[in-house]
Amino acid sequence: MTFEELYDIARKTLNPKKLSKSSYAGSVAAAILSENGKVYTGVCIDTPSSMGFCAEHAAIAAMITAGENRIVKLVSVYKDGTIIPPCGRCREFISQIHDDNYKCEVMVKKDTVVTIYDLIPYRWEKEEN
Ligand SMILES: [Zn+2]
Repeated sequence: MTFEELYDIARKTLNPKKLSKSSYAGSVAAAILSENGKVYTGVCIDTPSSMGFCAEHAAIAAMITAGENRIVKLVSVYKDGTIIPPCGRCREFISQIHDDNYKCEVMVKKDTVVTIYDLIPYRWEKEEN
């Protein structure tokens, strides 16, 4: 699957809506391609008091619910179609749920793909020699 196809899936997943007087969801969508070739999607949930979570986090929860944890490709899209890189927490989260996820390819902007390792080098974990 190409990043263009993954991007299209993420874009179709967008569903911005107001949930309540203080909370919103769906203004960012993520699509992740797993090792088994499946695509998992999620949207952000924006709430006060840090209780919401990112679209990547939601997509990862769907993937883990389905029994997978190795991510091959990731792209996240804002409601206007702009590709946005994962936040620091999501970079770390991705790297912790599978030992090879540092190789996960991430589209950070149009025509630019990097790995999770590129985004968070110098891991805090002890190096295994
Ligand atoms: Zn995030």
